[in-house]
Amino acid sequence: MSLPTTMKAVVVEQTGGPEVLQYKTDYPVPSPQEGQLLVHNNISGVNYIDTYFRTGLYAAPKPEILGREGAGIVTAVGPNTTGFEVGDRVAWLATGGYAEYTAVPADKTVKIPDGVSDEDVMASFLSGLTVLAFAKETYPVQKGDWVLLHAAAGGAGFLMTQILKSIGAKVIGTAGGAEKCALVKSLGADVVIDYRSEGGKDWVKLVKEATGGRGVDVVYDSVGKDTWEGSLEAVKRKGTIVWFGNASGPVPPIPLPKLSPKCVKIARPTLFGYIETREEFEHYTNELFSLLKSGQLKTKIHKIYPLEDIAQVHKDLEGRKTMGKPLLKP
Ligand code: NDP
Repeated sequence: MSLPTTMKAVVVEQTGGPEVLQYKTDYPVPSPQEGQLLVHNNISGVNYIDTYFRTGLYAAPKPEILGREGAGIVTAVGPNTTGFEVGDRVAWLATGGYAEYTAVPADKTVKIPDGVSDEDVMASFLSGLTVLAFAKETYPVQKGDWVLLHAAAGGAGFLMTQILKSIGAKVIGTAGGAEKCALVKSLGADVVIDYRSEGGKDWVKLVKEATGGRGVDVVYDSVGKDTWEGSLEAVKRKGTIVWFGNASGPVPPIPLPKLSPKCVKIARPTLFGYIETREEFEHYTNELFSLLKSGQLKTKIHKIYPLEDIAQVHKDLEGRKTMGKPLLKP
């Protein structure tokens, strides 16, 4: 099969607002290097982390094609690269998903099993692996634990709520607005707080009430700047806070003595720290695929946007307008 030499892609040359996302129709198709595969993306995931690389909150060399995950067909195999053939249907984690073709590392690529759609994988790949690793390893959630989860209707939150409930945890989910709260409730969350409503603004008090004054065993906080202080108040004595994102801005440097009164443990994990080896990557991807195949984990696609609408996706994400996962059709 002959491959085109140019493709549609969204390129960021300098950091900034959504306006720096430049849609191009004549960008060169990359060639796979040693250890790489060329994938023709059928669908790509859009994650909040993409906005950090766009704004420069997270550093990465520019020009850059954003997009940390994709699903599609292998169209070329780089030199000395084993384990994959042209025609394989795969999902990958790397960078460059906002494009028709991406050259990706084979060691962060997996074949998608029959019976699992590209769309289901992209609605749960980066976010689902994150959720599994953070619930199993960062803090191993136990049956009966009280868990506070912020942004529970988001791409990661929608999956996390289900995983926590499947473990048998008691889940307090926060979300902004009635529609998002209804979604979180439908997943079986025990308590749902609309932290943007008048009644929910004092969510710390509501968490304390729900837990009989004790506080939660663990907080999963990806909102950051706006919630970190409340999370510290809402956690129990000897509890754990997992700060894993910056949707409202980063958590500021915290003086360590702030943790002393309640002997609080804090973690600041990243997915890639848990899937560094092939064995670790396959462990979590196998678990995710089996949950999807058995129907135990449901996915929610906010909307599938065409590639040229990428600026709108970033505006919707940062404007808190999405529920579940936004996807991109390159
Ligand atoms: P989401 O779909 O969860 O979108 C972010 C959500 O955060 C919004 O929908 C909104 O929900 C909430 N939010 C609260 N305050 C703000 C604000 N000021 N501006 C914008 N949104 C706000 O995104 P993802 O599922 O892609 O990611 C969720 C979080 O998890 C992100 O912080 C991301 O960085 C983090 N993450 C971290 C990983 C890691 O390895 N450490 C890996 C994957 C994700 P609401 O309206 O309900 O408040």
